[in-house]
Amino acid sequence: MQTTLTPSAAEAAAILNEGGVVAFPTETVYGLGASICHPEAINQIFRAKGRPSDNPLIVHIANVEQLEDVVTEITPDAARLIECFFPGPLTLVLRKHPRVPETVTAGLQTVGIRCPSNAVAREFLRLAHYPVAAPSANRSGLPSATNWEAVYQDLNGKIDAVLCGTPSAIGLESTIVDCSCSTPLLLRAGSITLEQLKEVVPEITVATKGDQASAPKSPGLKYPHYAPKATIILYHPGEVPVTTAVFASIGITEPPTGVALYKQCTTLDEYGHELFSFFRRCDTEGIETIYCELPSNEGLGRAIRDRLMRAAGHV
Ligand code: AMP
Ligand code: MG
Repeated sequence: MQTTLTPSAAEAAAILNEGGVVAFPTETVYGLGASICHPEAINQIFRAKGRPSDNPLIVHIANVEQLEDVVTEITPDAARLIECFFPGPLTLVLRKHPRVPETVTAGLQTVGIRCPSNAVAREFLRLAHYPVAAPSANRSGLPSATNWEAVYQDLNGKIDAVLCGTPSAIGLESTIVDCSCSTPLLLRAGSITLEQLKEVVPEITVATKGDQASAPKSPGLKYPHYAPKATIILYHPGEVPVTTAVFASIGITEPPTGVALYKQCTTLDEYGHELFSFFRRCDTEGIETIYCELPSNEGLGRAIRDRLMRAAGHV
């Protein structure tokens, strides 16, 4: 399959509307989209990514009005969250409308919905004839792609097109909140923080490892994820390790002594933004060990910690 690279949302949407699989930029990470009305294109997403078929896809909409096409009920909590955070980096899990195929939701009767704020994504989704199912545009298990070059590296020849926009402004996947149960549940941390969510829905709780093990609420979270080829060693800011060879390091405070390639970030925003592109750069340079500072579990630190722990294999 020939993969077209295009800067045109209109050309990308035309390919999608004909049943193609098209990667597109969003503010979180690049997404790999197919129309929910093209079953063969949905299957191609799973094949291209090497994604297990029990891992549901998030459905992307162009505007809040499209919600009623894909869900049967908007709960009062969901309505409040939509009011505050749509369009933006938040995915809400709600009861699915019968027109959303079970191949998209991996057999679940709920569906994850997101309305991105990125202008190119919105134009692309506006021109799409139907809502667009899209997981992250990377090979399953690898770090998410935060620029079109990373998408192309992973998926060239396996997808129909890449809509080439700017690098993702946030660089971490969306926050996921399950609003299909009686108390909203934070399934995946992201740049909309638990503290921000609690200001709107104070009762929200965090899904525990126990919840996930007994009845995985978000099937994708049981798989290894975000991992570069290198081994990842996590450390706390106060315990900067001393290394003896050439390694790579990313974090907020001074990197460990002896590190050759490092990315020292000044803010958590920058840390989240740089994390996956740093991992990919380390792979390109053949780095075998990456030291990563674990931020505290507050604010954006929660999402960065989550990605680091998974990348390090602590599923
Ligand atoms: P990705 O887009 O690759 O970041 O993966 C999408 C994530 O959303 C995975 O972790 C899925 O398990 C999760 N997800 C999608 N749909 C649902 C749903 N209906 N219920 C719970 N989690 C979902
Ligand atoms: Mg993913």
